[in-house]
Amino acid sequence: MDSTQKLSSTNPRRHAFQAAIDQPIRKIERVKDSFGKDAPVSEYFGCMTFGLAQMREKLPKDSYTNLLKTLDQGKKLPKETAEAIASAVKEWSVSKGVTHFCHWFQPMTGSTAEKHDAFISIQHAHHSELRVIERFTGSQLIQGEPDASSFPSGGMRSTFEARGYTAWDPTSPLFIIEEENGKTLCIPTVFFGYHGQALDNKTPLLRSIDSLSNEAVEFLKLIGDVDAKKVQTTLGAEQEYFLVDKNFVALRPDLIMTGRSLLGSSSARGQQLEDHYFGSIPTRIKAFMQEAEFELYKLGIPVKTRHNEVAPSQFELAPIFEDMNIASDHNLLTMEVLKRVALKHGMVCLLHEKPFAGVNGSGKHNNWSMANDKGENLLEPGHTPHQNLRFLACLSVILKAVNDNSAVLRASIASPGNDHRLGANEAPPAIISVFLGSLLENILNTIEAGKVHKATDEQIIDLGVSQIPNISKDYTDRNRTSPFAFTGNKFEFRAVGSSQNVAVPMSFLNAAVAMAFKECSLKLKELLKKKKRDDAVLELIRGLVKETKAIRFSGNGYSDEWKAEAKKRGLPILNTTPEALDILKDKNKTQFLIDSKVLSREEIESRYHIAVERYVKTLDLEHSSLLEITSTYIIPALEKQMTLLGSAHQAMSSAPLKKLHKDRSTEFETIFAAVLKNFDSFKSAVEKSRKSHDEHKRMWNIMEDLQPAALKLRDAIDTSELLVADELWPLPKYREMLLAHTLL
Ligand code: ADP
Ligand code: MG
Repeated sequence: MDSTQKLSSTNPRRHAFQAAIDQPIRKIERVKDSFGKDAPVSEYFGCMTFGLAQMREKLPKDSYTNLLKTLDQGKKLPKETAEAIASAVKEWSVSKGVTHFCHWFQPMTGSTAEKHDAFISIQHAHHSELRVIERFTGSQLIQGEPDASSFPSGGMRSTFEARGYTAWDPTSPLFIIEEENGKTLCIPTVFFGYHGQALDNKTPLLRSIDSLSNEAVEFLKLIGDVDAKKVQTTLGAEQEYFLVDKNFVALRPDLIMTGRSLLGSSSARGQQLEDHYFGSIPTRIKAFMQEAEFELYKLGIPVKTRHNEVAPSQFELAPIFEDMNIASDHNLLTMEVLKRVALKHGMVCLLHEKPFAGVNGSGKHNNWSMANDKGENLLEPGHTPHQNLRFLACLSVILKAVNDNSAVLRASIASPGNDHRLGANEAPPAIISVFLGSLLENILNTIEAGKVHKATDEQIIDLGVSQIPNISKDYTDRNRTSPFAFTGNKFEFRAVGSSQNVAVPMSFLNAAVAMAFKECSLKLKELLKKKKRDDAVLELIRGLVKETKAIRFSGNGYSDEWKAEAKKRGLPILNTTPEALDILKDKNKTQFLIDSKVLSREEIESRYHIAVERYVKTLDLEHSSLLEITSTYIIPALEKQMTLLGSAHQAMSSAPLKKLHKDRSTEFETIFAAVLKNFDSFKSAVEKSRKSHDEHKRMWNIMEDLQPAALKLRDAIDTSELLVADELWPLPKYREMLLAHTLL
């Protein structure tokens, strides 16, 4: 007997629940070693990628050398080299069964886009005989021209010059996406307009990586690292996500349309027992994780950690950090793989920042650091006084970068989804501050007080901070409430939203740090005229420590006292997306993006317009969904409940029962009336708002008027949910969606 026969209920929700708990565990076919056993990861890691290592192996020597010159010195790739690479790529791809290739790019929609072309080409043989052959040319590898008019440009292109070009980014490996019925070669590319304007999120990231490297190198030279040539930025992006059984999602138009639940009464059992975080991973979830990891390994993505997160049905995956550009591409790919593999396991992976009210939302903690040519982490205290001084200098420069640009950094993570998360259950507040931990705070304070004159080992020991040379994460305390925390050898930008393309906040952060390095280099040059090097550096640090007091905060970021304190300190408090986005209109505040050559004024303006438009469109969609669900699901369910109460009442003959029952009916009628009333007022507010064509006004109107009205309607509906017969409630409930997996 299958599950649908077992259930006599006509409520599809009940069938969805049954189907969810009957879902079989999906098994996968792993790569085998020569003995037929599961091969170790190292044997197939990156087998679906074609990057520098594969090129070194497969390319003629001079082609490979030319490619390296392009990468290291920005030289133009000679045509013959491009042809040689294309030919090697084609051979490799076809041997793997690939039929199509695509230029994979990151338009300003925030996700990725791809346009596929087959490898085939027609060859004219004898007479009129046509033959199909596999062909892939250097120019197909290097440049593409997708029809750009359908991607957001924020007004940078008028339709008559809708040209947009994609160009191969040779620093990020090519990769193959395998699907049930075929394989596609993806070529990571940048996407730009006719006049070279960035139409994507990758171009500014690449520019920011260069800018930071150049400015950091200048600075390092001044502090004594005379042979510094390049500074690499590194990123490890921890990804949080929810998994919900597909059968439930299919019955929730809000999840399908908007990626989050627009209504639903909280489950009595939420996260209060604190039993989910790091708990044992349910079998079906683990089967999903194992397949996702298998796919990610083949794509050369070094996922390392998996665990349950705080909310029920919430999980996390963290990779080993990589070079910024690659890590950023890899995070986008990871999100794609998570979604695709979840479906195979009968689940939907929700990457939204707040899919369920009342429990934790999802973030993407961006672990960020810098390394020099020798691979030394600049945010790791070293073994020599010089390395420690360098560490403190870099740390202070970053404090300055965040202090001077915190409002724009806040704008870089603004989205409707993140609005629900920031400042809510256990999420970082919307106020940007930096947490350093008490040990580092002590060191900075002592430097400020002028007690340290030279950074010798002894003096540091004198100050009771002998651990400096080997500070590791064990020496730093943790503060989960900070949006930007130092965690031993890296900073963790925790306020980034789970669904976001990290390229946006990372390019802003890199730009801010680059400009802080630049300013500090100028200051240091002046100091060096008067002082010996170590003294000059200490003097610089002392100044920075004083200058950045306001941004440093070690207390509880969730508390109301912090809000008051932040206000006193004059820190920007930007609770919502409209407030944060409007910062991008302030030319002084965004000047660092221009000075660092990460974005032009025109590009900043276009990004602002796109973000405003996306805010309006996202919330318009949510509001339309909420209205439709209320009118076609909720109100009919309430009507049925009303009828049920009415006929029950008629059937009663006992006076005391009738009286008690009357009270219940009255309670129900009151809440039913509230639903109808709030529905009407929300509906007219929405209609009125949509009459305006001024996007900016609409953004503010939506935030100030429509969002509170939507919330009122939701509250009434959520209260009514608890008064309607379970059999009559049409939408899968929170407890079902969030806890079904615990039964597996
Ligand atoms: P934590 O204890 O802070 O969670 P982990 O070692 O688990 O530290 O690392 C968390 C994330 O930070 C991982 O993705 C890891 O790869 C990343 N990470 C570690 N070192 C660096 C670094 N130097 N630069 C960028 N990310 C890093
Ligand atoms: Mg986490």
